[in-house]
Amino acid sequence: MTSLSPSLDELVDALRRLPGLGPRSASRIAEHLLSQDRERALKLVSALDRAVKNVKHCELCNTLTDDAVCPICADTSRDHSKICVVESPADQRVIEETMTYRGLYFVLMGLISPVKGVGAEDLRLAKLWERLKSDPAVREVLIATPYTPEGDATAHFIAKAVASVAPQVRVTRLARGIPAGVELEYTDANTIAGAIFARR
Ligand SMILES: [Zn+2]
Repeated sequence: MTSLSPSLDELVDALRRLPGLGPRSASRIAEHLLSQDRERALKLVSALDRAVKNVKHCELCNTLTDDAVCPICADTSRDHSKICVVESPADQRVIEETMTYRGLYFVLMGLISPVKGVGAEDLRLAKLWERLKSDPAVREVLIATPYTPEGDATAHFIAKAVASVAPQVRVTRLARGIPAGVELEYTDANTIAGAIFARR
């Protein structure tokens, strides 16, 4: 097929590689930006450019932040004895919105998934082990991965590893107050608040 616009094809190809976007939605977004909303397209380019230059992983908790150490880790008024392990910054935001948790976090940026070829070594967990070994203030690791096979595998791995790396640290998991198959990100704030309090 003759390409009408190699530039458009290249843009669609870049978009469709993003998570959650198939070829049809990639085409729709590209066509919309170019035919109706060029100003937004340019804003998107500059926001992306700025984010790529400024955003990094927090040295302590691995979340995405503009600073070397994120504002949550740097906040001395928070409870530094608890570390809540979440899959992504989006899950961290959900828990923050409940305003019921005042401890710290560790953000995995993924889950162990043999199907997708993601192993424990891909999750930068060394940072967490280092923290548990070097910071005696930490008393509890609260695992808040979703109740899916990948979330379970990840929780199981972390619980076992904490027991050997830092046996003095208690490991708990966000209780199952959440409907099966629902990802943390989509759970409403009250359910999470309840789950945090009901954890075992
Ligand atoms: Zn941090």
